[in-house]
Amino acid sequence: MAERTLIIVKPDAVQRHLIGRIIARFEEKGLQLVAAKLLQISEDEVRQHYAAHKGKPFFEPAVKFMSTAPSLVMIWQGEGVINMARKMIGTTLGFEAAAGTIRGDFGRSERYNLIHGSDSPEAAEKEIEMFFASDEILDYEFSDANWLYVQGDSPKK
Ligand code: ATP
Ligand code: MG
Repeated sequence: MAERTLIIVKPDAVQRHLIGRIIARFEEKGLQLVAAKLLQISEDEVRQHYAAHKGKPFFEPAVKFMSTAPSLVMIWQGEGVINMARKMIGTTLGFEAAAGTIRGDFGRSERYNLIHGSDSPEAAEKEIEMFFASDEILDYEFSDANWLYVQGDSPKK
């Protein structure tokens, strides 16, 4: 099965009308959307999602930020998608993120950094399970798959 990652278009991006432009970046890259949900993430879910950051000074404000307005939660699929998406997203702080990345192009804030992407296969698996049942994740082929990606090419080579 191809690799999958959990992407969250965060509340600031939804409020700033950036959903379409963010989705376009992943579509244009040739990655495959296999599940999506617009929802308001609960405080408990955010606490679980960011459990590794418990106790850090930004933890409580981040919980509030992520749970006070709707987010778009998605699964994107493709060989190497986890690292690819993190590169497309850019580094954490908007004012430092490189131009050409989503955070670098659309944001300048620390907390309000528009988008989340899983940072490892283990995190992706856990995060996907938290938001989606297995029957909500679709399996389908792109008709142009052979023009997007040469089977056997590995992003690790
Ligand atoms: P994410 O996990 O949301 O994809 P990330 O992996 O780039 O982001 P983390 O270190 O996991 O960054 O931080 C989780 C979230 O906490 C950040 O996305 C941001 O909203 C918030 N955050 C992180 N560092 C800071 C900071 N120095 N000041 C304010 N908020 C921060
Ligand atoms: Mg993180």
